[in-house]
Amino acid sequence: MDSCNTPACQSARELFAELKEHYDDHNLYFQTIGSVLEAANALKVPHRLKLILSQPKNEIMIHCPVKMDDGSWKLFKGYRVQHNNVLGPYKGGIRFHPEVMLDEVKTLSLLMTMKCALARLPFGGAKGALRLDPASVSADELQRVTRRLTAALGSNIGPDYDIPAPDVGTNSQIMAWMADTYSNFAEPSRKVIASGVVTGKPIEFGGSFGREKATGQGLVYVLDELLPGMGMEISQLSYSLIGFGNVGSWTARLLKPRGSRLKAVMDHTGAIFCADGLDADQLAQYVSTHGGVANFPAAQAISNESFYQIEVDLFIPAALEQMIDLEHAERLNCKVLVEAANAPTTPRAENYLLQQGVKILPAILCNSGGVTVSYFEWKQNRQSEQWSEADVDARLKTTMNASARRVLKMAKQLDCDMRTASFAAAIEHIDRVYEARGVFP
Ligand code: NAD
Repeated sequence: MDSCNTPACQSARELFAELKEHYDDHNLYFQTIGSVLEAANALKVPHRLKLILSQPKNEIMIHCPVKMDDGSWKLFKGYRVQHNNVLGPYKGGIRFHPEVMLDEVKTLSLLMTMKCALARLPFGGAKGALRLDPASVSADELQRVTRRLTAALGSNIGPDYDIPAPDVGTNSQIMAWMADTYSNFAEPSRKVIASGVVTGKPIEFGGSFGREKATGQGLVYVLDELLPGMGMEISQLSYSLIGFGNVGSWTARLLKPRGSRLKAVMDHTGAIFCADGLDADQLAQYVSTHGGVANFPAAQAISNESFYQIEVDLFIPAALEQMIDLEHAERLNCKVLVEAANAPTTPRAENYLLQQGVKILPAILCNSGGVTVSYFEWKQNRQSEQWSEADVDARLKTTMNASARRVLKMAKQLDCDMRTASFAAAIEHIDRVYEARGVFP
């Protein structure tokens, strides 16, 4: 394939040459660093900040031996990447997926640093992953793997140091097992605070009201803030979704009472379409019992190719990284691409869409509702409080609206696209904190 000559790629290539480190144009980590460096260059931040952000502080790799129900043994590979903690403890989800790779986890940890900084949360960025398909093991095996993973992470996580949360393939039950395992190792005087080691826990065990829907809810608040400026009205628009898991289904369920029409959904089981609009609540119910959207009765099955071509106002990827490549982008028929998933759009697809006049609302803004309510949960745990859902929603709205306005202001100041603006608004804050703290020693 051709080498990439965009300013982002050139910045990343130069920096990794200076570091005498491997560089690859086609690798998601280097592509993401390239976009971050482009924003850093636009802000003219000190070179030392670019060096600091270019590599994670810690990359932890573990291997967990676990006895399966049939008596056999399996060895599971896990990662925890801690990118930066200048703003506060490391924070980021932990995913269980059969195909996770270290560079993907590094990318997601970098995005967490940017996301927390953009939202002005007192957290740094991290991400974790375990190479496992959770659907392929029994509930008992899942619990043993989770507890063994938590024990293996040991003091690399902690409520004052690094705080995991749910992500793809993990949920509140898995967080409960992690918190319980960690608490069992904690000093007696730290037992109460120890359950704050993870967020996204069940309500009965220190979870926050509003956390489960938080990422979708945050996205809806961002749309409320930004769409009117683009001449769009939530109640009038149509959209399609990739992914109907936590983020996708909550986005759809929250957009339903606002009057938006969900025309098509694609997940790992197939793609479905209904011109008059799919009922998000019925579909969520169906997916919870059937495992995916395929064969949903009130819809027509369509091919994945035709899914991308459906005319909609908003196209919302809410599944995995890099699903919108150039080939898919060329098929899209939308006005705005709303990134609910992390890093769903390849740089080539993004360049093409921007040239076509499609607006891209970046992930570090759109999906920051999850980590924001995780912050609220962590705060509630430290104060032994439980806030009402209305209180959580009101605080989330304030944070999301402020982040969206920050991105708009930066886009105007730098005369740039929204992704560059969102990274710049994050980097500006990190730069100020490094200026105040200095770099040790
Ligand atoms: P999830 O596991 O609940 O759902 C994932 C969805 O992706 C499922 O509907 C699955 O069918 C679909 N999917 C998987 N492979 C697919 C494929 N090849 N083609 C089409 N669809 C496919 O995960 P989630 O928590 O909803 O996370 C989705 C995205 O949002 C991820 O990028 C995640 O990092 C990001 N995110 C999640 C949260 C959160 O609070 N859960 C917060 C911020 C960002």
